[in-house]
Amino acid sequence: MTPLVVGNWKMQMPNLSAVTTARRIAQTLPPLPDREVAVAPPFTSLGPVAQALEGSPVLLAGQDLFWEDEGPYTGEISGAMLREAGARYVLVGHSERRHVLGETDQMVSLKAQAALRASLRPIVCVGERQDERVAGRHEAIVGEMLLRSLAGVAVEAASDIVVGYEPVWAIGTGFAATGADAAEMHACIRDRLRTLFGAKAADIRILYGGSVTEQNIDDLMSRHDIDGALVGGASLQAPSFVRIASFQRSPSSTSRGGGGVRG
Ligand code: PEP
Repeated sequence: MTPLVVGNWKMQMPNLSAVTTARRIAQTLPPLPDREVAVAPPFTSLGPVAQALEGSPVLLAGQDLFWEDEGPYTGEISGAMLREAGARYVLVGHSERRHVLGETDQMVSLKAQAALRASLRPIVCVGERQDERVAGRHEAIVGEMLLRSLAGVAVEAASDIVVGYEPVWAIGTGFAATGADAAEMHACIRDRLRTLFGAKAADIRILYGGSVTEQNIDDLMSRHDIDGALVGGASLQAPSFVRIASFQRSPSSTSRGGGGVRG
């Protein structure tokens, strides 16, 4: 399975910084033929960032999309528009959209389906809040969120889906999940994916997100069932994002899907 590292720039980069950062990433990222790297700039910078990335293997992702394909939906953006701007991936159900803007699992599922209709790969984000983890309900909460957020996605589309496990308490806080805790949740997510997609669940990449840094990426990526990373704060500076994208797995994890280090 090809690992995927995605930088989510959120609403934090004016166009000039987005273009400069994209250019620096494109210029300094070493050749990494065994993985995919993408950045998700604000919508207004998709075109300029696409230009800045021309000729580089760095892919473009949208931060969100609407669930209808076209129509009078002021302020919304469609999957086809993202595709036209050069995006290959799109985030759906990021916790900031769920918790700040009130997005529900049902909306997330409609968005995931809209992305697939537009030939975009949806990165479907799920994660528990701090109180839910403290109460020991994280596996149940994330499992149910996942089943509802992927409702309606056809088995044939499974390998085009990416899941982002992002514990809400780890996002932007500096408190990342430990490699062991993250791996435990990823294994649990893989189990839930099996109930939806059977054997095809093995093809679905599960990314970890939440205070990923240059310091913790190698450990995280050496864990079984961690197939990539979603990076917020540390993706805003080209050098740290390039270091994260250049992660090295520990030798014991090289035969993934059997020889991986279990948390
Ligand atoms: C995110 O918001 O997707 C994220 C993972 O943020 P950070 O890396 O800053 O915790």
